[in-house]
Amino acid sequence: MNDTLQKLKDIFGEIADLNRAVGVLAWDQETYMPPGGVEGRASQVSTLSRMAHARFTSDEVGGLLDAAGAEVAGLPFDSDEASLVRVARRDYEKERKLPSDLVAEMASAGSTAQPVWQKARKESDFKSFAPYLEKNVELNRRVADLLGYRERPYDALLDREEPGLTTDQLETMFAELKKAIVPLVADIARHTDAVDDTVLYRGFDPDLQLKYALDLVTRLGYDLERGRQDLTAHPFSIALGPGDVRITTRVSRDFFNECLFGSIHESGHAMYSQGFGVNLNRTPLWGGASAGVHESQSRLWENLIGRTQPFWHHFFPSLRNTFPEALQGCDGEGFFKAVNKSYPSLIRVEADEVTYNLHVLLRFELENEMLEGTLPVKDLPEAWNARFKSYLGIDVPSDREGCLQDIHWSWPEFATFPGYTIGNLIGAQLMDKIRADIPDLDEQVGRGEFAVLLRWLRTNVHRHGRKFTPNELVERATGKPLTPGPWIAYVRKKFGALYGLQTAK
Ligand code: ZN
Repeated sequence: MNDTLQKLKDIFGEIADLNRAVGVLAWDQETYMPPGGVEGRASQVSTLSRMAHARFTSDEVGGLLDAAGAEVAGLPFDSDEASLVRVARRDYEKERKLPSDLVAEMASAGSTAQPVWQKARKESDFKSFAPYLEKNVELNRRVADLLGYRERPYDALLDREEPGLTTDQLETMFAELKKAIVPLVADIARHTDAVDDTVLYRGFDPDLQLKYALDLVTRLGYDLERGRQDLTAHPFSIALGPGDVRITTRVSRDFFNECLFGSIHESGHAMYSQGFGVNLNRTPLWGGASAGVHESQSRLWENLIGRTQPFWHHFFPSLRNTFPEALQGCDGEGFFKAVNKSYPSLIRVEADEVTYNLHVLLRFELENEMLEGTLPVKDLPEAWNARFKSYLGIDVPSDREGCLQDIHWSWPEFATFPGYTIGNLIGAQLMDKIRADIPDLDEQVGRGEFAVLLRWLRTNVHRHGRKFTPNELVERATGKPLTPGPWIAYVRKKFGALYGLQTAK
């Protein structure tokens, strides 16, 4: 390797070390740190982040990227070197546009808004949170202006989360989804008795749940030599390097889905991270292609594998042995139906597969309108409630269960919600191709064999890390650009059959 590239890689290696150290501090804060550590931790994180940002946006890195750009000019698009320079250049140009004062202001706005949001949500008091949300809207406008955009300010923010995707494209996809889901939701609501999920609430010993879930995700392919699981209020996964990718979970005695499906979800994220090419380690290419691609991996394992008949055909007997009392009188088929019950509900994180994207659509629309100034922040609760009623058919009783439910608007970064829906769509499109490439997938899953599936994901998605944009990745893996078609066909078929709907035909 020539000198320029090596020098660049050395610097990127140091930056990766700093960022991973921040990751360990963040993991510790969420899991074991005593409450008194908050202040000290905030300054440690801010010092390390500032060092990483300063190192990355330095003139030296700019000069090296220029020189390296000329050197990799003849290399194939997907080679490690050409990809490294291309992606690092994209990151560099974005980060250079944001002055460090603004970066610091955003960090502090986030940490101030979060406790206010927590209290406001608890007391269902939108008015006390509104000034902080206004501040976040204003910060996002400034970021959008600095990053630049052709049509819509949301484009600039979206491009940071989902490189290459535009607001218009997203609106088109959501319109197609809405047209398909709203009538499906109404149809399911008329047949709600077809699925009984009371078994999930019968009471399951928490320790046994944790053990069962961890056993199960290692069977899927989550490698505990390079991972571990701990308890947190909000589950997450975090990648600290190829040899250390952790997950967290939560457990409820009274509701079965939380621990098991949460664990499958997070291990889906973690298996993605464990599969990034080691050749990309300690460079900007070692990471997920986007929030949406990350979510495609977690949702694929959670829903497209974990909520299927063959999956429960295999796992139900051992589950019943573990929880003989709670599962008395239930069989694998009944359990498969129970974990797929669909009904309009108020809270996004508890929503089923069918209604989930409507929760995201609502947030995407409102966020965009606040950013463009057509929706004043003070009118958010009314707008939220009216749209909720029209999409999901239910009245929102309080702001706590309405526009104050998510932590995201206390963060200073907007445009993080669409990733959830993009993940669902990518997951379904990948699954169509996986089924074509592995015709006996259901039989394998029914035998509890997941190695061939994991190998497919490693080859076509994981190993590339951040080399490709979400659309490039999807096109390479499936031969087609991203569209909502496969996901719509999937939910129509699955829920049509579950609820005995006409749309099943
Ligand atoms: Zn996730």
